[in-house]
Amino acid sequence: MEGSKLKVLLVEDNYMNKVLVTEILTLNGYEIVEAKSGIEAIKLIASERPDVVLMDLHLPEMDGITATRIIKADESVKSIPILALTAAASKGEEYDLLNKGFDGYIGKPIEVKKLLETISNSLKDKQQGG
Ligand code: MN
Repeated sequence: MEGSKLKVLLVEDNYMNKVLVTEILTLNGYEIVEAKSGIEAIKLIASERPDVVLMDLHLPEMDGITATRIIKADESVKSIPILALTAAASKGEEYDLLNKGFDGYIGKPIEVKKLLETISNSLKDKQQGG
């Protein structure tokens, strides 16, 4: 059934990362919706209602941290998990991302196993935590 696919909103302006993540997730049965700026992400999260968002931090028009802050202040979409896509963060930086409203983080360069596990865990948390 078409409707049973989990939907991922991928917010990424880097072409190669976008192609890579889209390919991995499509092969693993996810539906992908793409945004290339923070502003587009805010529009699409409301209209597409994804199950999870993958958010690059450095984006044109509006960065990923600002977009996440705005989304997490909106009652209608704040329960949707947002995972930061960022170049290998230190433990301190990782903790800082959680304080900024992100639900988790995926390091760049992207590792297939880590990407799939982090997405899957964020969806479990959502189901359990409500
Ligand atoms: Mn970027």
